[in-house]
Amino acid sequence: GRASRQPQYSSALEALHTVYGYDAFRGDQAAIIDQVVEGGDAVVLMPTGGGKSLCYQVPALVREGTGLVVSPLIALMQDQVDALRANGVRAAYLNSTLTAPERVEVERQYVAGELDLLYVAPERLSLQTTRDLLARGTLSVIAIDEAHCVSQWGHDFRPDYLALGDLGEQFPGVPRLALTATATRETHREITERLRMPSAQHFVSSFDRPNIQYRIDPKVDARKQLLSFIRSQPAGSAGIVYALSRKSVDQTAQFLAKQGIDAIAYHAGLDAEVRAAHQSRFLREDGVVVVATIAFGMGIDKPDVRFVAHIDLPKSVEGYYQETGRAGRDGEPAVAWMAYGLGDVVQQRRMIQQSDGDRLFQARKQQHLDAMLALCETVVCRRQNLLAYFGQESAPCGNCDTCLTPPETWDGLVAAQKLMSTIVRLQRERNQSFGAGHLIDILRGKETERTRRFGHDQLSTWGLGQDLSEQDWRSVIRQLLARSLLAPQGEWNTLAVTESSAGVLRGDTPVPLRKDTIGRADKPARARK
Ligand code: ADP
Ligand code: ZN
Repeated sequence: GRASRQPQYSSALEALHTVYGYDAFRGDQAAIIDQVVEGGDAVVLMPTGGGKSLCYQVPALVREGTGLVVSPLIALMQDQVDALRANGVRAAYLNSTLTAPERVEVERQYVAGELDLLYVAPERLSLQTTRDLLARGTLSVIAIDEAHCVSQWGHDFRPDYLALGDLGEQFPGVPRLALTATATRETHREITERLRMPSAQHFVSSFDRPNIQYRIDPKVDARKQLLSFIRSQPAGSAGIVYALSRKSVDQTAQFLAKQGIDAIAYHAGLDAEVRAAHQSRFLREDGVVVVATIAFGMGIDKPDVRFVAHIDLPKSVEGYYQETGRAGRDGEPAVAWMAYGLGDVVQQRRMIQQSDGDRLFQARKQQHLDAMLALCETVVCRRQNLLAYFGQESAPCGNCDTCLTPPETWDGLVAAQKLMSTIVRLQRERNQSFGAGHLIDILRGKETERTRRFGHDQLSTWGLGQDLSEQDWRSVIRQLLARSLLAPQGEWNTLAVTESSAGVLRGDTPVPLRKDTIGRADKPARARK
């Protein structure tokens, strides 16, 4: 037998083969692991799904002592520890979910040198008792996961992270790793400074997934569009379709199945057995399309997913990137397709306005949504926009809808003015407000029961917008909402002007709009490695 403090594996590659069953390291993993095994510090920027966990788990397995992992996500901590234990690794965690006797046992194991990895929640490390405990054992490496939480300007700031800065002084000679999937330069600088890692080597992975073709279509009839998108893909392609609600997941799966697509549903409302059966069909059989809420995909590692489709707008670019990133892990051509419309913007803006949370929280949600909307409405390369969001510069990619079929733009100033003045008049003169459908009826001079009842044919803007189709008007409204030149309000999601609308009404703010075309980029997806 081996002494308990001795590492379990003699080399990183041996650990990789034995514990994880993988053949080779991916991307920067080998270089990062080398640096840490040699005793150096590392700051690691890698997209979600890039394989960050191995970067600290493997050094912990080949260096003497216990690897300390600071992680703010309790659920993830438990998953990782379970998975590690199933693979024969001596792992444990210390967090608020443990009973007192369980905690005492984990502490004993650590001090006795019986643990390869110990996961700890950040708030525990601000406690002197935890620091004292750690000093009584031997640390092999200190990993700080989600290191961007140290940034006060970021979305996920956690004050407890600030206390992690002195770990280097308390444990000199123990290599430290800071890991994050958030890549802005500013965050990067803050991590290095606040965690006091001036001599760390920096590993910045590219966030680009060149084999994924990005496409975003304006939404007209999401299910029909989805069906024709799936039919345009090579027969037997495995795919994931994301929808927001369980109801929509069920209905969409049924709809596709009726049309002859091998589609199944996946969401938290299904029985555990059904879920497991559907998941395993998706993993094992060819050409299955799973329609799912975003709960699906965590920890799913299927390399040959050929497309990821969104029929509802993701809440953030991070979410979009993570979900679309499940396509084409094998490097072969894959497509990320989305249908996005006016209703999505209205719904999500309203959800934010109505959410609990303080003003700051709402403002952050709003920023997340705005970035997502900017990606949807961009007239330049989608990939460039996406990578820029993560702080990485790039050239137009040639493998997204806007590169393949550059969208036309048109001057939407007059249209925006007609719409806004209709809204302003109704508000000022009659103290009324309406949703998109009725406003469009007014602008197009369409007589309906409601326009008659309200006498809206008497408005000065009645019928002024006949030059645009109803679909065009929806596109105008969607784009104005996306830029906060309009805002939904009240229980009925009626439309209101915003502070920024004044510039449009005066004619000072240009309003270049994207001309919507559906089914863009019908050229085949490309493999680019
Ligand atoms: P991150 O923490 O960066 O989001 P993970 O560490 O969870 O990513 O890894 C994502 C997935 O990739 C996991 O399923 C993991 O097992 C797998 N993975 C990581 N490294 C490798 C590798 N070298 N070879 C094959 N699969 C890997
Ligand atoms: Zn492009």
